[in-house]
Amino acid sequence: MSELPTVEVAVSPVDKFREFLATKGMRLTPERRQIAEEVFSDHEHFDADQLALRLRPGSRPTMYRTLSLLVDGGLLRKVASRPNGGAVYEHDYGYPEHDHLICNQCGKLIEFPAVDVSQIVDEAALQHGFRVEGHRLEVYGVCSECLRPRQRRHRKLDQI
Ligand SMILES: [Zn+2]
Ligand SMILES: [Zn+2]
Repeated sequence: MSELPTVEVAVSPVDKFREFLATKGMRLTPERRQIAEEVFSDHEHFDADQLALRLRPGSRPTMYRTLSLLVDGGLLRKVASRPNGGAVYEHDYGYPEHDHLICNQCGKLIEFPAVDVSQIVDEAALQHGFRVEGHRLEVYGVCSECLRPRQRRHRKLDQI
């Protein structure tokens, strides 16, 4: 559910992944390629279970290893954890810097541009002579949809 514009990139995610694997002396196997293509076919946030449903049946360990290679290569980042502890991933390559509002009840992730946050980060970094390589801000709370039924309940009580 992305409202942010994508960033133009010269190299496709799959080619970028191939380059990264080459630096590690690894190859873009058909399995790795299939996983990378599926991951980059859609910007939705996803967890491993959701990705597994979208892939042709294959080995889970290979999928997990490929996901962590995509993270190491700067193509994906982990943005949050599901209540069951599973990581939620999203594109890091070709997508603008942004942060998330995370609903504690339904797990929905709402994206917002990180422009102001980046300014604060840059100022703090400058002050401490720190080189920034990225930041992650997770704001936890309850989304408007999950808030709605509760408000209705309150209103009913008020009327009694
Ligand atoms: Zn919610
Ligand atoms: Zn996001």
